[in-house]
Amino acid sequence: MSKAPFPEHLDALKLFARNGAISAELPIARLKRFSDYLHAPSGDVSVRLEFGHDEQGRKLLSASLQVQVQLLCQRCLGPMSLDIETTLKLLVLDEDHKESIDGLEAVCMEDGNLDVPGLIEDELILCLPLAPLHEDNNCNRELNLYRTKGEEAQHRTNPFSVLASLKENSANNEDDNSKT
Ligand SMILES: [Zn+2]
Repeated sequence: MSKAPFPEHLDALKLFARNGAISAELPIARLKRFSDYLHAPSGDVSVRLEFGHDEQGRKLLSASLQVQVQLLCQRCLGPMSLDIETTLKLLVLDEDHKESIDGLEAVCMEDGNLDVPGLIEDELILCLPLAPLHEDNNCNRELNLYRTKGEEAQHRTNPFSVLASLKENSANNEDDNSKT
């Protein structure tokens, strides 16, 4: 099944009534709050939604989300990409509800409508790292140089011993030359 663009209006009640499912591409640009966290709000979220019911006949929305986002590394301030893959299960209630029921997070429909992009956005924001960093912890060259200098200072040997070893080397070279 090829992925369709995410519907402009999603009739959740109808989809629950027929235990429907949707596979679609949701443009990141449509998720304004999520976009604010990103270096570049380009690309699509691959979304799979299943509108089902639990044993008690309550509406249960399952979602799997997959997206690659562009962030700024907080060590070198360079762009980096991050793959996010997550799933969520939500009880969908018609009336006011408690925050969670039977360990499941619950959301409420308003006038038969469910803000599915809003729910997707909430979940994706939770998946973002507080401080994104490149996997390579030497990504910041200036910081690296600074660190190396610090280490050199710690391990610095007596400059005269360096001179001594230079002299030894040149003496060896002279020996080599005399042999030829
Ligand atoms: Zn970096």
